[in-house]
Amino acid sequence: MKDSAPFTVVSTTRSSAPRTYAVSSEPALPAASGTERLLALSHRLLGEADPQRLLEHFYAWATTAGLTDSLNFQPSQDLPATLIGQPRHHSANYRLEVNDVTSGTLTVTRRNRYAAADLAALECGLGFLAPALDLAIALREARMMAMKDSLTGLLNRRALDEGLAREMLLAKRQNSALCLMFIDIDNFKTINDQLGHLKGDRALQRLAGCVRGSVRESDMSFRLGGDEFAIVLPGTGLAGATGVARKIQAASPNPDSGLESAEPLKMSIGVTEMLPEDDEKSFLQRADTHLYHAKSQGRGRVCSGV
Ligand code: GH3
Ligand code: MG
Repeated sequence: MKDSAPFTVVSTTRSSAPRTYAVSSEPALPAASGTERLLALSHRLLGEADPQRLLEHFYAWATTAGLTDSLNFQPSQDLPATLIGQPRHHSANYRLEVNDVTSGTLTVTRRNRYAAADLAALECGLGFLAPALDLAIALREARMMAMKDSLTGLLNRRALDEGLAREMLLAKRQNSALCLMFIDIDNFKTINDQLGHLKGDRALQRLAGCVRGSVRESDMSFRLGGDEFAIVLPGTGLAGATGVARKIQAASPNPDSGLESAEPLKMSIGVTEMLPEDDEKSFLQRADTHLYHAKSQGRGRVCSGV
């Protein structure tokens, strides 16, 4: 059978040559590794797409085999690190690579010094973990990319469609406030016409930066397309959300950094608070209606209500 998807476990603890495996090759298992336990580990890793769960399976295997008391995984991508267990004095460090791309670094620690046989056993387990983890991280990255607006880095409309229902459910369950804000730049076509499309894009990016800088970390900011943005504000009532809208207006960026005299971007904003009887459609509809009122009442203003 042809070997595929080579993956490498590079020990940064000891100076031995990197071990390269291929999915269909049979690694020579050291006696200490416990073939059956390793097979059980590989079965658990198969079909698991969540990086955290994969690391938990690996940790469970390694602790049962007496190979670790703690595990710390630091992904190369912009993802949170994972620490399981209680760090101890002796450590073994690995860089996990698949097809020459590093997916992250892993440190395992325990109370007792690692002998060569222990490290060899660990590396057999890592040989199963590395490709599974690499795939899971790639999948998570792809999912995150699918939720992002590429121009501004904010979340996109699909993320709002998927996230709003969840936030509404959570707010109802916790009996807490939830607000929704729609923002639309005024006369953005004219800005594009006067400054050109590229500077128009830059203005959208600047506004996204202004939105990001005006909200709490727990709020979620979206570009819905064109010059339309949305913010979901959990735990915030109508008065608070209206205040945020005014703050965004006050911080509105100049659309063209080269033109000191240019007016800041003007925008219309609609804000509403979730009612107990709301579903996604009625909640979105009401925010849109308030935005429409802001436009029809002369633009450059905030309209809010339930
Ligand atoms: P209004 O005050 O009624 O909102 O008028 P408007 O000119 O802003 O018009 P509207 O919001 O209906 O349309 C948004 C315009 O934004 C349409 C298009 O010219 C422009 N636009 C949409 N997407 C992009 C983009 O990705 N980049 C740039 N530069 N412009 C875009
Ligand atoms: Mg507009």
